Amino acid sequence: MIKLAIIGAGGRMGAQLFRCAAEFPRLVISGAVDRSGSTAVGQDLGKLAGLDATGVIVLDSLDRALAGADVAVDFSDASSTAANIRGCASRGVPLLVGTTGLGPEVSAAAAAAVSQIPLIIAANTSLGVTLLTELVRRVARVLPAEFDIEIVEAHHRDKKDAPSGTALALGKAAAEGRAQDLAAVAKIGRAGVAPRAAGEIGFAVVRGGDIIGDHTVLFAGTAERITLSHQATDRAIFARGALRAALWLAGRPPGRFSMSDVIDINQ
Ligand code: NAD
Repeated sequence: MIKLAIIGAGGRMGAQLFRCAAEFPRLVISGAVDRSGSTAVGQDLGKLAGLDATGVIVLDSLDRALAGADVAVDFSDASSTAANIRGCASRGVPLLVGTTGLGPEVSAAAAAAVSQIPLIIAANTSLGVTLLTELVRRVARVLPAEFDIEIVEAHHRDKKDAPSGTALALGKAAAEGRAQDLAAVAKIGRAGVAPRAAGEIGFAVVRGGDIIGDHTVLFAGTAERITLSHQATDRAIFARGALRAALWLAGRPPGRFSMSDVIDINQ
């Protein structure tokens, strides 16, 4: 059995991870942690997810939650991710980070950790979005530069970061397909009177209601358009992908991996 620790266990994704874990017979949840002061701390993880009690109590100590774990997943808050990476690295616990809106301090923590643990940082752990990302990279590589690339994303009204981490990852894949640096070509939002510059990758953001996550990448040429889209209708897709990645990570050698490695896109 592979023992999993959930970081951010009291949140929406924490509950989803718990519910979906039953679909993976090789996986058992061995630890759960939330931030100190959270109402989830001290509660049974199963009860928090609206199911039967399991005996796994949400702790406020990462170190204790990681004890005995073969792998961990982090769906918490961007402000805590660098510390969570360092905590997993010092205990030798492989980690999947699903938290989004990450700052530069996470890059430094990740760079230091990959000599100690296998690590995936994925803004979107859905297998469908992972495939979409690779398709976008390949389409961008093949199509001539006359095709303008625009990315449209929609999420629920409470989402903190914009554009979404997934939209930015799709933009990065498109830019890499064209041998460009996303930072140099990204155009986030449009207003006023400004023509589109050649080579730009545009981002448009929609926020409202309970939209779980829609992403469309538009390749707009003259007299023809290609659109690649993904709609998430249930948060469970992120949990299932994350759990599949966790199983894949457990026992790997240290290094930086991606969701594309998990789905073995080149098979
Ligand atoms: P949420 O607010 O419902 O839950 C986050 C939980 O993390 C809360 O219980 C919070 O108390 C806890 N937390 C905060 N600081 C912590 C710390 N230092 N240690 C441990 N726990 C801590 O949010 P959510 O909807 O579950 O999403 C969590 C994160 O995952 C967000 O960044 C979201 O954007 C991201 N997300 C990623 C994917 C993906 O596919 N990668 C999918 C959905 C959500």
